[in-house]
Amino acid sequence: MHFALVSLFPEMFGAVTDHGVTGRAVKQGLVEISHSNPRDYTTDKHRTVDDRPYGGGPGMLMKIDPLQQAIAAARESAGSDARVIYLSPQGQRLDHDKAVALSREKALILVAGRYEGVDERLIEAEVDEELSIGDYVLSGGELAAMVVIDAVTRQMPGVLGHELSAQEDSYADGLLDCPHYTRPEVYQGARVPDVLLSGNHEEIRRWRLKQALGRTQQRRPDMLAGRAMSAEEKTLLAE
Ligand code: SAM
Repeated sequence: MHFALVSLFPEMFGAVTDHGVTGRAVKQGLVEISHSNPRDYTTDKHRTVDDRPYGGGPGMLMKIDPLQQAIAAARESAGSDARVIYLSPQGQRLDHDKAVALSREKALILVAGRYEGVDERLIEAEVDEELSIGDYVLSGGELAAMVVIDAVTRQMPGVLGHELSAQEDSYADGLLDCPHYTRPEVYQGARVPDVLLSGNHEEIRRWRLKQALGRTQQRRPDMLAGRAMSAEEKTLLAE
């Protein structure tokens, strides 16, 4: 997967490119990252990337020309068929299914806005879709782009080791994950559930599934409402 990042602050992306699961994916060559900075496509002495909005009002907007040229450069690195995604609080909300769908793309161009956003005509001309990471407003699209990179990369084959499989995580099978425990066996008087020490893999599987079902019913009943249940799941939920 090639992530071509269009941003005024490329140095921010070290958080995902240099650390943890995503950093490892970059090192292994499973993920390729390129940067285009609109500021590199300015022509004036001050390297201006923002301008006042027509009609007045507070704040500035990103200028069209440098941004458009930075997107063109991103297309050159990522390939002309790469999807162009503008991170925006007005976009479709990112969720598990969307992350899985995006993980099947060969290349994504992620455009991070700043200031009060970008000129609407640039969105119409250059952007395939707008994507939001939640119903709140950030100061810039970089953090949102990093959330997309992380969530999408985890879904790519070969990125997580077997024991860390994304299939076990919350949302993958329409349920929240079960609770987990590590050593010590007793912490402040609280014991690890006996079944997890039993070595009985079938019992452990059933316990985990029951916990995941119960937890989802308690915390996110909306997830169960639209989900088809197996006979075993129905029994465990009713127990
Ligand atoms: N005036 C814009 C609005 O209300 O829709 C908000 C602009 S915001 C201050 C600056 C940039 O942050 C946006 O251009 C976008 O790239 C990014 N951004 C802010 N909130 C976001 C969110 N929830 N999801 C994705 N990107 C977001």
